[in-house]
Amino acid sequence: MKKPLSFRQLQKKLDRIFSEYIRLRDADSNGYVRCITCGKVYFWRDVDNGHYCERARFSTRFNELNCHAQCKNCNWTHEGQKMIYRKKLVELYGAQEVEKLETISQISGGDDSISLMYKILEYQQKVKVLKKIKVVNQT
Ligand SMILES: [Zn+2]
Repeated sequence: MKKPLSFRQLQKKLDRIFSEYIRLRDADSNGYVRCITCGKVYFWRDVDNGHYCERARFSTRFNELNCHAQCKNCNWTHEGQKMIYRKKLVELYGAQEVEKLETISQISGGDDSISLMYKILEYQQKVKVLKKIKVVNQT
């Protein structure tokens, strides 16, 4: 029997698949995404999964509302352009949802190994579906 993955390994695996999911979710059928904060268009493989409430907050690390395709430039400068990011989120989901998200991000703790495992399976499935309907490789 294979040794089960440690919590850290599971988290790393989920980070990877969840990032893929977010970027594919935000991509059009040709695989192009618009950066949530600067609006520039990139191929999905060339952007990051940008977190609004930072990734270190485990309660919102894998929250779909908290995560969007973001160019590396925006993600790695000015704290991920947090103010612009917030404005965008309010436009997309409404102020109430954003406040809820901010409250959740303040809660300490996050997923345990079992829920990480379930989420890995869930997002592997979702990525598989998206890869069937969107262009995933540049030609
Ligand atoms: Zn950008």
